Amino acid sequence: MSKELGQSLRSYEEVRDEILEHIENLPKERVSLRAAQGRVLRQSVVCMDTIPPFDASAMDGYAIRAQDIEAASDDNPIVLKVSTTIPAGDSRELEIAEGQAARIMTGAPVPQGADLVVPHELTRFTDTEVIFNQSLPQGKNIRPRGGDMRPGLVVLQEGYILGGPQVAVAATVGETKLEVSRRPRVAILSPGKELVEPDCEPGQGQIRNSNAYCLAAFVTQAGGIADVRGIIDDTPEALREEIRLSIEQGADLLLSTGGVSAGDFDHVHRVITQDGNPGNVYKTDMRPGKPQAFGLLQNVPFMGMPGNPAAAIVSFIHFVRPMLRKMLGVAPFVPPPFSVRFTEDYTYKGGRVFMLRGLVEPAKIEDGGGFIFTGAGDQDSGFLASMALANAVIRLPADQSVAQAGQSFPAWWIHDS
Ligand code: AMP
Ligand code: MG
Repeated sequence: MSKELGQSLRSYEEVRDEILEHIENLPKERVSLRAAQGRVLRQSVVCMDTIPPFDASAMDGYAIRAQDIEAASDDNPIVLKVSTTIPAGDSRELEIAEGQAARIMTGAPVPQGADLVVPHELTRFTDTEVIFNQSLPQGKNIRPRGGDMRPGLVVLQEGYILGGPQVAVAATVGETKLEVSRRPRVAILSPGKELVEPDCEPGQGQIRNSNAYCLAAFVTQAGGIADVRGIIDDTPEALREEIRLSIEQGADLLLSTGGVSAGDFDHVHRVITQDGNPGNVYKTDMRPGKPQAFGLLQNVPFMGMPGNPAAAIVSFIHFVRPMLRKMLGVAPFVPPPFSVRFTEDYTYKGGRVFMLRGLVEPAKIEDGGGFIFTGAGDQDSGFLASMALANAVIRLPADQSVAQAGQSFPAWWIHDS
């Protein structure tokens, strides 16, 4: 075990849980079905209707009485008279008598008296007659009235993320407005004298601001509204002014990258500890992503994330994504990991929990299924290219330095909500 663990590093999970205690659910708002896609439901939806509202045909075919063809076989074809054709949407109150068949379309109401729909491919027919060579059980190919939903059934529950099927259910029961969590407005601050915007040619000693755009993408995917505030000079005054403006303009969460270490120009940790209530700087046990800072500034949560691009991404995955999920009311707010298996030994730097960025792929079922690690690029916390090739962050233990073939470890998708 490395020396570092003996020092005052704290478990990142413990730090995360401590920070998350300060995060609250955002208020709700009512939106239309079209706007509800991807939002988090904050009400339950109860069906007030009977769905389907009538016995409906599940096939194009013939609605008949099952009894009438009970004796049908190749040797004993049974002929019924076609009394009518029933399209979907037909509003007539129809009935069929013994010995009759109604030509019927999928979704059309099954006429009174009929208790079976025989698909037309199982019949031979003319305009006036239909011939059956086999029997079928009662009720076949009929969707019974109320078979899907009945009055009083809770069809959607608080906390659901609204995708196509959930919106469809709401539409079916006639709920055209839904209460969802307000989207968190997330101000993204980029302190750093060395930074220029991506459309600029960096001068001597300068680099382009990439973190802000990375975070904006992550925030948007998690359901937030990203407010990229631009580059801030490396002074406490400039930082305080930008924080003040962001809060004034309605930020629910403030994020910054860089300036959380102990360097001469690392003002984020100073501002958070001086102005925050509470306001803390943490040295966590993960690599990359050791330094993290968190505070409430005028009651608005502020996460001071590390500046190195890979560390900022790891910080987003483990701290900020859970915060956004908690604000939105997604359960569980800490996304559970999935398991990744190594098929070859992989050597890494031990001593701290290693957040390996790598490419993970589904294993073939015949190879045991699940997900396997297939490779990783450069793990320098300041390097980005390998981060763009990776799809997961895998947690390797501090007390090992080789992930051995056959071992499995927890992992999180980089691209997730
Ligand atoms: P710092 O903690 O401020 O010393 O930053 C650590 C590293 O992250 C330095 O190499 C910074 O240049 C880099 N960095 C800080 N902010 C950004 C940013 N917005 N985009 C890309 N790199 C950054
Ligand atoms: Mg800096």
